[in-house]
Amino acid sequence: MELRSQGIKDTNVLKAIETTPREIFVSNGFEDQAYENRALSIGLGQTISQPQIVAVMTQALQLHDRHKVLEIGTGSGYQAAILSCLCRRLYTIERHKPLLDIAERRFEHLGLRNITSIAGDGMQGWIEQAPFERIIVTAAAKYSVPPALMEQLAVGGLLVIPIERASGEQVLRLYKKEGDKTYAMKDLMPTRFVPLLPDVANMMEA
Ligand code: SAH
Repeated sequence: MELRSQGIKDTNVLKAIETTPREIFVSNGFEDQAYENRALSIGLGQTISQPQIVAVMTQALQLHDRHKVLEIGTGSGYQAAILSCLCRRLYTIERHKPLLDIAERRFEHLGLRNITSIAGDGMQGWIEQAPFERIIVTAAAKYSVPPALMEQLAVGGLLVIPIERASGEQVLRLYKKEGDKTYAMKDLMPTRFVPLLPDVANMMEA
């Protein structure tokens, strides 16, 4: 009801959110806050996104059950679980292997069989599986879209990504790839995502 009042109208998106148990994706001790509209810690300095942001990003992608979708930043796996209900196959990349291992167990537990996940640097995309009809980045890129992601987006495809501006503010941006080298874009809302970082995280990184 709250998401609906915040302008989320796509009934398929609302249904996917309703049927995905968020408490499974939050860390122990945070279960009682699972249904509050806020981001929560998932360990290693990372967060599970606020439900409203998950809803806005998912709705912006205009998903279809024929789409092949790429997500960068698996994190808890919550956004991935919702996307997987709305597309044919979801590919998801996380740079923190321990987080990915936990997310994979959750997919297994929920019986979500159309998700393929790897530990890696999502800024490089997933060349073997490209092109993707939709791409979603759930960590903030500095100033612009990583070029590999724009290249791996199918013509006609949509990409949603938080972009950090020079001022330090973040904005959620939707891109439509109109031709091989041309795209249109639209700013959707201000956001506060953790940064998109290069390379796979090493063991020492918090
Ligand atoms: N979609 C997640 C939100 C996770 S927060 C959820 O629903 O819970 C963002 C995640 O992006 C973090 O787990 C962080 O480790 C990851 N990340 C940051 N840069 C990355 C990169 N280059 N490649 C893959 N994952 C990255």
